[in-house]
Amino acid sequence: MTARILDGKAISERLTIEVRRAVDARCAAGKAAPGLAVVLVGEHAASQIYVRNKRRMTEAAGMRSFAVDLAADATEEALLRTIDRLNGDASVHGILVQLPLPKQIRSERVIEGIDWRKDVDGFHPYNVGRLVLKLPTLRPCTPYGCMRLLAETGEDLVGKHAVVIGQSNIVGRPMALELLMARCTVTICHSATRDLPGIVRRADIVVAAVGKANFVQGDWIAEGAIVIDVGINRNADGSLSGDVDFASARERAGWITPVPGGVGPMTIATLLANTLRAAELQDAQPRGSP
Ligand code: NAD
Repeated sequence: MTARILDGKAISERLTIEVRRAVDARCAAGKAAPGLAVVLVGEHAASQIYVRNKRRMTEAAGMRSFAVDLAADATEEALLRTIDRLNGDASVHGILVQLPLPKQIRSERVIEGIDWRKDVDGFHPYNVGRLVLKLPTLRPCTPYGCMRLLAETGEDLVGKHAVVIGQSNIVGRPMALELLMARCTVTICHSATRDLPGIVRRADIVVAAVGKANFVQGDWIAEGAIVIDVGINRNADGSLSGDVDFASARERAGWITPVPGGVGPMTIATLLANTLRAAELQDAQPRGSP
């Protein structure tokens, strides 16, 4: 079997158009365009590229983009003061602090400093807790984008065995919660997992979020499985590879995401959808209400 490709680029473009239409309708009704502040601390090379893309796409979706750049040696207090200012700015509906942060700054303190209504990354403990309780509000962008990709297969997810490789707060854990909410039977694997190939062979859905190029081998993939490759790994020649060995896995999978052009563009489109949702939340629940 040769897998069908889940074209994240095309699907994300459709989602972005949907968001753009909703933003235009909102503005036509006299409401403010949603505003997204993307905060970058330092000059991490990959982060600069991600931030540039996020800011560009925000404007393409008809939203206001606020660029906030702090020096690499900025203190935690300085960043928290910046977050506080953005929390209080009514034209900013979403705040995204690009991770990783320089080592003098504790990311958990920064995330907890963001007003949960503006937490478009969905990392604030309040939003994480809502996801755990099956009452999601603002959902982590990458896993939510993966769920949109899974929906595009048209397959019934209920009762499927989903194996998530990786347990980070950003991808693996919220991904597992999303799949559980979709009524999959979920196995979470990590660096201490025994017999990973054996577990992956029993998966109807595989989500790889490991950060190791071509780590998941084609012969681990069950015939017809859906393979979602979250990994973005830069090769020595500058090209990108996923966490799945695409050439061998596509010969067995039913569906597979490419890298680039799979999960990556969906993450940005979901961020835009979250920013719109955040603006709607703030219309209904101004700051200070519970
Ligand atoms: P992370 O380093 O925080 O987590 C990696 C996880 O992989 C850990 O939970 C670890 O236990 C697990 N792992 C490591 N070695 C393993 C092994 N041998 N067997 C099983 N599990 C193992 O990384 P992350 O932030 O979750 O990101 C993972 C990958 O996804 C990276 O390549 C990152 O660049 C990419 N990413 C992509 C997007 C996107 O939009 N496409 C978004 C976020 C992250």
